[in-house]
Amino acid sequence: MDVFWLGCAVVLGIVITPRAIARLRLSLAKHRSLQGHVRWSKRIAGMLPFYEFDESSFCGVDGAPQDVVTARRSAFAAMASRFRAKYTKTAAASAELQDGLADLQFTSRYRVPFQFSRVVRENLAGGSMMASSKGVKVTDLDGNEFYDLAGSYGVNLLGVDFYRASIEHAVECASDLGPTLGWLHPIVMENVRRLQEVSGHEQVSFHMSGTEAVMQAVRLARYHTGKDKLVRFSGAYHGWWGDVQPGVGNPIAEKNTFTLADMSRRTLRVLKTRRDIACVLVNPLQGLHPNANAPGDSTLVDSGRQADFDRETYGAWLRELRDVCSRRGIVLILDEVFVGFRLAPGGAQEYFDVRADMVTYGKTLGGGLPVGVLCGPGHLMQRYRDDRPADICFARGTFNAHPYVMAAMHQFLEAQQTEEVLALYEGLDERWNARAQNLNHELELNKLPVRVVAFSTIWTIVYTQPSRYNWMFQYYLKDEGLALSWVGSGRLIFGLRYSDQDFLEVSRRFVAAAAAMRDDGWWWHAPELTNKTIKRQIMREMLAR
Ligand code: PMP
Repeated sequence: MDVFWLGCAVVLGIVITPRAIARLRLSLAKHRSLQGHVRWSKRIAGMLPFYEFDESSFCGVDGAPQDVVTARRSAFAAMASRFRAKYTKTAAASAELQDGLADLQFTSRYRVPFQFSRVVRENLAGGSMMASSKGVKVTDLDGNEFYDLAGSYGVNLLGVDFYRASIEHAVECASDLGPTLGWLHPIVMENVRRLQEVSGHEQVSFHMSGTEAVMQAVRLARYHTGKDKLVRFSGAYHGWWGDVQPGVGNPIAEKNTFTLADMSRRTLRVLKTRRDIACVLVNPLQGLHPNANAPGDSTLVDSGRQADFDRETYGAWLRELRDVCSRRGIVLILDEVFVGFRLAPGGAQEYFDVRADMVTYGKTLGGGLPVGVLCGPGHLMQRYRDDRPADICFARGTFNAHPYVMAAMHQFLEAQQTEEVLALYEGLDERWNARAQNLNHELELNKLPVRVVAFSTIWTIVYTQPSRYNWMFQYYLKDEGLALSWVGSGRLIFGLRYSDQDFLEVSRRFVAAAAAMRDDGWWWHAPELTNKTIKRQIMREMLAR
């Protein structure tokens, strides 16, 4: 090789090798699951063919013997006729509404794995409408009462009656100014002061949803660091804005988001070495199921759903992340839209003993009305540069700091300071862990293949034995008068004021639902049926179609 080519090789080596290493490091920091590989997951999702089971095959897709299939079939028919009788008005009104409401079309289609969806929709129509709520119960259009285990997506922390009263007070309090926008109601001053205390940050901005608060946090982090890459962890939800929701569900390919493995040394290595990362976005809910998506029943094709929560370990991870971000000048954003105020009066920062650079809140903070809030230090919240007057970071929203929302928020923040509410946080985890343990004990005693996993008042249901029919459990729970959100058994959300008595009744119904499902044969199990063989079965079904 002459000197020229040798020189070229050296230059190429110098230029390419660090890039290749950085690229490799990034690839290694992806979680091995599909959640960790957003492009692949989207490609694969785009290739999955549609097929479905009809009434004749629906009950025996796992190879169960004929007597079990017959038992399931008659149980399904009996449940269908019960539902038709119980939910007549609710189902009819929901069906009518669904024609014009795209939201409802989507949620009702994706309650169970798509192969079973049509038969379930046609037979177990329970509807998606409610007429009233009181205490921990909701009542549908037919007058059926349910214990509310859906928790209004997490908004319902202090009980629905609190939010009802909070909105009524807010309307009264803000009525002099009315829905006049652009000027601020004086109550905003108090909200800002309280949020400064709660978050430990100097400044606050108000938005209309959690999604927007997160958008603003990321935009400001990019503006102030001059870098464009955002790190999020696989499976974590941060609203539906494109940059934080790459992959399945988002038609646009992500460009500036790295989806990395949660609780991983390789991720820390990426943060320690790359120079283009503006911020790391953390949803502490992932402590319950790191690297896994929000567990909807539409993906419950086997019993592979896992969850476990260890406050110490997850807290230690957050503090380590904090340390690396501080050293690297990366903005650490704690997205507390869901868990904020649910874990401790000072939110996840207090609960995990970690201090983020920016914190987002939402849901319950609105006192029952829609809201998103961002808190951060002045140097990150400022939207302009003193020395470059035209270089601004724009963010406005018509309904930001709406007087009624601000007044309802004030109700919530005031309540948070009362002794009664503060007392609810004392021994909160112990109370809910004990409730989960007792329920699990009952399930075990009754040899039922279901368990709950608790992250304080946020629970998920896991299944201990491989099955293709776990998603049916949501209908057995409904039949027992327990209302879940559209994601089904993956997420139960309780309010802090759920009494022992109410909880005991919920437990009793939960066990009864599981026992009925077992007795109806849905959890029939053969030793050769494993989560792996189920996945293979599904693959074969797809290839066959
Ligand atoms: N971040 C987190 C952690 C959330 O849980 C959610 C909502 N589930 C959002 C952001 C988005 O909030 P919103 O639905 O109010 O836009």
